[in-house]
Amino acid sequence: MESIGEMLKKAMADSLKDQERPAGAESAQELADRAIKDPDVQKFLKEHASELSKQAVQDSMTNICEFYLQKTSPVKAIADYQAELFMNGPLIGVRYLPTAAKRQRDEERAAESRIELIDMPKKLRRITLTDLDKGDPGRNAALLAVGKFLDEYEKHHTAKGLYLTGDFGVGKTYIMAGLANRVAKNGGKVIFLHLPTFISGLSSHFSDNSLQREIQRVASCDVLILDDIGAETLSQWSRDDVLGVILQARMDNDLATCFTSNMEMDDLEDHFASTKNAVDPVKAARLMQRVRYLAKEIIVTGRNRRLN
Ligand code: ADP
Ligand code: MG
Repeated sequence: MESIGEMLKKAMADSLKDQERPAGAESAQELADRAIKDPDVQKFLKEHASELSKQAVQDSMTNICEFYLQKTSPVKAIADYQAELFMNGPLIGVRYLPTAAKRQRDEERAAESRIELIDMPKKLRRITLTDLDKGDPGRNAALLAVGKFLDEYEKHHTAKGLYLTGDFGVGKTYIMAGLANRVAKNGGKVIFLHLPTFISGLSSHFSDNSLQREIQRVASCDVLILDDIGAETLSQWSRDDVLGVILQARMDNDLATCFTSNMEMDDLEDHFASTKNAVDPVKAARLMQRVRYLAKEIIVTGRNRRLN
């Protein structure tokens, strides 16, 4: 940053050497006259009139000119930063602050880094609640519930989750993506996980230690969204020692947990009961109690949007 100042000072000093100035080029005095008339400079001088002597303004002329040149030049000294005047003791300084566009991009990037998609399409990062069309009455209950969830989550850093159920293609995953992106924008860490793929990859992808760490991570994020619960093929082990453990931890720690499913909750209980080699209604009921404790069931209806 200093180097720009130095560079400009040199340029100004050069232009002071009037004899060497090519015909038609602007003198330092002319530049200073233009700079001082700039509306932003005038505004700054007015705001700080009580702190500034005439001498101080004169002594700050290099900085005022630097500000003016940076403001009016289409080529910025530092991309994405804009010059700003500030009171630097008794004098006027110039500093560089990120532009609004850069701040917004940085915030978006930070929000993206707070959402972890596991086995989910990347395009879901771009879905915002405002993008979701509101015209479809079959989705209104879900959108209202999402609004309530977010209000409560913002107040208490936790909230009872949502269990969106409905046919394939009605937009459940999209609505959850909107919710996830809003939570992340406000600073929450979200894991959005496609449960069937996650479960089927468990044994092959993880050594014992890394599996325990992965379960721990999923169990402890601020908001967990399990997409397509009910479509996974469960073994007793993945039901009780993976899914059961994750849901129990989330209950114990009051962590917000949401689901999407093609199955209504009552059917999900039957699905949990029959694993590969056994039928176990007691364990299924226990798991289902956790799901019901964690989330409120909402039915989403509408056309299949994949068939447009
Ligand atoms: P579900 O999870 O209920 O099976 P999705 O959320 O995956 O359904 O939505 C299916 C497809 O419909 C998406 O891939 C997307 O192309 C489209 N879609 C869903 N919701 C919307 C929406 N609100 N606006 C525009 N397109 C949507
Ligand atoms: Mg889906």
